[in-house]
Order: sequence, then C-alpha cells, then structure tokens
Amino acid sequence: MQTNLRPDLINTPKGIEAERILRSCVHCGFCNATCPTYQLLGNEDDGPRGRIYLIKQMLEGAPATATTRTHLDRCLTCRNCETTCPAGVEYGKLVDIGRAEVEAQAPRAPLDRLYRRVVRFGLLSPRLFKLALSSAQRVRPLLPTALQSRIPAPRMPGELPTARHSRQMIVLEGCVQPALSPDINAAARRVFDAIGISLVAAPSAGCCGAIEQHMNAEEAAKTTMRRNIDAWWPLVAAGAEAIVVTASGCGVQIKDYGHVLAGDPAYARKAEKISALARDPIEILLNEQPDRLAALKPRHARRIAFHPPCTLQHGQKLKGKTEKMLAGLGFALTPVPDAHLCCGSAGTYSIFQPELSGQLKQQKVQALETGKPELIATANIGCQTHLESGTPLRVVHWLTLIDPAAPLAP
Ligand code: SF4
Ligand code: SF4
Repeated sequence: MQTNLRPDLINTPKGIEAERILRSCVHCGFCNATCPTYQLLGNEDDGPRGRIYLIKQMLEGAPATATTRTHLDRCLTCRNCETTCPAGVEYGKLVDIGRAEVEAQAPRAPLDRLYRRVVRFGLLSPRLFKLALSSAQRVRPLLPTALQSRIPAPRMPGELPTARHSRQMIVLEGCVQPALSPDINAAARRVFDAIGISLVAAPSAGCCGAIEQHMNAEEAAKTTMRRNIDAWWPLVAAGAEAIVVTASGCGVQIKDYGHVLAGDPAYARKAEKISALARDPIEILLNEQPDRLAALKPRHARRIAFHPPCTLQHGQKLKGKTEKMLAGLGFALTPVPDAHLCCGSAGTYSIFQPELSGQLKQQKVQALETGKPELIATANIGCQTHLESGTPLRVVHWLTLIDPAAPLAP
C-alpha cells in the first residue's frame, strides 16, 4: 500500500514504524475472514483491513473522529488477523499507534475518561481489587443467579514449596491474578519444583503494563515496565534462567518490553534482555527432558476442552503446544470448533465493550462445550474469569491440572 504521511510524522520512530507496516499490507482482505468483530458486525471498518485504512488516513492527515475511535475501540487486539495475513502485517503494533493518535486528536468525553481512569486505578491496585473481590464473594450467595455468575468463587493457593533448587526462574505475580486465582502461580511453583526448578518472585514487580498500554496510557505503561525491570534485574544478575509468566496476556506484553522501550537509552538493553527471558510455562516444560516430566500426571479430570488464549496462539505464536503436551500427559482433549477465535475477554474489552464481549463469550462457551468435557482449561486469567461467568463447567488454568498437590484423576 502506498503511503503519504503527515510532515510531522516523517522520519520519526512512530512514522517510520507505521509506514513500514502500512506498506506491507496489500489490501487483500484475507484477514477479515478470521476477525471476530468483522464476523459479528459485517462492517468493513470493524475488520482489520478497514481499521488499517482508517489509521492510514489519520496518519496522512485526515482528522480523527469519534467514529474512528469507535471502530478502533471495538478491536479486541486479538491479533487473529496477524496469524491469517499472508503478508506478515504487524497489525498489533499499528493499532497501538492508531489508538494513541485518535486519543490525541479526538479526546473522549470527560465522563468516559473518568470511568476509564477509575477502572484502571481499581485493576492496578492489588489491595483495593482484593478487598472489592472478597467483599463481593462474601455477599455472592445472597445475589440473584445472574449476578452470582459474574463473581468468581474464591480459590485457595495451598502450601508453597521452598526455593530449594539451584535452578531458579522468576515468576510474575501480576496485578489481578493473585486475588482472582492464587491457585495458578501456586500450582506453577509446585509443578516447577517437581521438575527441579524453583520459582521466585520479586516483591516490587507488579502489573506487566498491559492494562495501561491497552488503555492508551503509554507513559504510565513505560513507567510500569521500567519498575518491573528494576525489580527483576538483581535476580537476573544472580542467574535466574527465565521469567515465567503464567498469564499469556502478560507474557505477550513482557516479550514486547524490548520493542516498547527501544527508544529509552537507559532501559533499552535491559528491556531487550527481559523480553528474551520471558517464557510461557509451556515453553519451559516442552524443553525439559521427558524423564523430568514423569512426575506430572493428570489431576482433577482427564476429559478436558482447552481454550487457547489469543495472546498465546496469535500473540506469542505458541499455537497447539499446550494441547500437545496435555495430550502427551494422558488428557483427552475434546474437539473445539473455531479455536482460533477470541472469547471476548481481551484485557479490559469485556468491561468497555460488554455487548460484543458477551456475544463472543456465548459463542466460545458453546464451542468449548461441544465435546462434553468435564472441565475447561486455559492459559490466561482474563479468559478464565470471563468464560467462568458463562458456563456451569469449572474453568481452570492448565497448570492446576498437573499440580502435584491435587488428587490424581480417576
Ligand atoms: S492485513 Fe494482511 S490479510 Fe489483511 S488486507 Fe492487509 S495484507 Fe491482506
Ligand atoms: S486484532 Fe482481532 S478484532 Fe482486531 S482487527 Fe485483528 S482480528 Fe479483528
């Protein structure tokens, strides 16, 4: 695609990157076929090709409007279009540029801005979030069934192993996951302990920065990333082999630190190193010798449906790997039609786009229940919580299915 960027963008890092991505698009429209919002709304501007064109127009000088923002807001950032695109268009990077541009040119209404700020503050304050969640969980039994399903039941972490192994890796605790599902990282610690690796956390690390980045708070996201890098650096210097990220949404973000902080002379090199160390648990386990994995056995249930989060299959390009490992360990994976499609969780999307998000959840739950599984497993806290509110089945992180502390599956 030919481009003719605004003079203020020419030769800037943002302009160079946008131009490179825009020029790689051949406007074929193959991506529309796998875009969940295009499928739901049938509007060119609610598909990747249309959004790319809207961003191109803005960067070439056309004024951004509230309508432009609506079409970009409706994008899930699932990056399914990247997987489909034959030309390798990096849509995720382009939509970040487009969103920052529209935010600057066509600011939201004051009430909308306030609402978004409150949500951001609530999600990024672990203590406040935990307090709000535990209060809601206490009154859950008194609420109507429709509301009950929106409040996840409490989960217990169980006993944690001590850091006894010479092989050590850093684990990211994150922002909302410790309150919503402390069993995930607890299971990760026990699974890794069983194969001879101790997971250690850096207390001053927190949210990965994805929430701020997705809400167009670019500078706040960078500050968060720098704080995490500072928190992890002593452990990296002491020989930690990797940074294990049990939420695939956070994993894709940390793998992008090097790109986001490339222009920061004080942090660029460290950010690149941190990104290179970030791993989804499946990447570690698949690289271990099979005899080390002998301790890992199916727990809870054998017949499961696996939901691969977009951040795992499209963002981190780890499609099919978790399913392969679970099948190898003895689980029976039930068929899931359209497994490439987003469940509608997509970070804060379920909060700001409840209708589209709800429709996608309904479709996804139906697909996951097709093969009559005993439970649903996934790899991201956002998808877990979102799906849980739409099905009577238990929804868990797959690591809890091989947690040595859980009873063996019959
Ligand atoms: S993003 Fe890729 S698939 Fe979509 S229109 Fe452009 S080249 Fe075609
Ligand atoms: S990221 Fe997802 S929702 Fe957005 S344009 Fe691509 S496929 Fe569609």
